[in-house]
Amino acid sequence: MALRNSQYDALMRYYQKLQLSNKHDQDERIEKAYTQIPRLAQIDRDIAAISLKKARMLLGNDTGQDFDLAQQIQSLSDERTRLLTSHGFPEDYLKIQYTCPICQDTGYVNNEKCICFKKAISEHLYTQSNIRELLNTANFDAFSLDYYSNEAINEATGLTNRETALNALTKAKDFVRNFDKEFENLFLYGDTGVGKTFLSYCIAKELLDTTHSVIYYSSFDLFEAFAQNTFSNTDESQGKNDYILNCDLLIIDDLGTELTNSFVASQFFLCINERILRKKSTIISTNLTLGNFMDTYSERVFSRVSSNYTMIKLIGSDIRIQKKLLGGQ
Ligand SMILES: [Zn+2]
Repeated sequence: MALRNSQYDALMRYYQKLQLSNKHDQDERIEKAYTQIPRLAQIDRDIAAISLKKARMLLGNDTGQDFDLAQQIQSLSDERTRLLTSHGFPEDYLKIQYTCPICQDTGYVNNEKCICFKKAISEHLYTQSNIRELLNTANFDAFSLDYYSNEAINEATGLTNRETALNALTKAKDFVRNFDKEFENLFLYGDTGVGKTFLSYCIAKELLDTTHSVIYYSSFDLFEAFAQNTFSNTDESQGKNDYILNCDLLIIDDLGTELTNSFVASQFFLCINERILRKKSTIISTNLTLGNFMDTYSERVFSRVSSNYTMIKLIGSDIRIQKKLLGGQ
């Protein structure tokens, strides 16, 4: 459950607002009912009066005839219910209406986060992920191996494209399954359109659904964000940078399509190095071959990646695979 303090505070403020708003609605309903049925106010006063009388008697300050307080309150409550329903109001019209009856809009039940709180966190994380809409269609079941040829054989490994894809799928599922136990990073490489991005969406969805914080960036947007956040030194931009370095999973898609310069190269190194030090997982996908990757980025980048990432190759001669996986034509 990776929430920044500010995110947690925002959610708690949401619950406070909810409580206030529901209390306000209740006050309005009470006013409306009391205007239409003045006897309701009298019932409240009667209940207060007999409660006080009973308390005085127990303290010896009142010597009147003893009576059954609970029974009298019950009969006044029954009268109130009858009045409400006979005037066309629901029985519980005067009671507070909780948005979540389980936790009564506090977010917690017995010091544990309520199911509504977990849902709110998940919603929040989805919104932050940058790929909310794209995840509607992405899941492991939709990753069909049929799109990969079972005839074309990769000379280096002796595996068919389909066997190579099955390997990738298995490793991706293992990555998700062991996410909370083992620190792992993935490096997905292969030609354009062979399913790398889709595979990273599937992973993102699984992890978001178990309330992990995931952020997706194309490498171009990521370096834009770094540049902006570095040059505008506000709390907000610092917060964004922190989130990029601290989220449970960072996905950097299409590495190699950004404009490479020394600033980008050093930011990239800082980012992946910092995340390795913090044991926060990263998935990089790229169309670059490993040789090109080494030429494009510095040797220290290559060495950090090759020693800390699981390399996963996808091969396909069919550029439509990605489109099919993503539901396009
Ligand atoms: Zn709740």
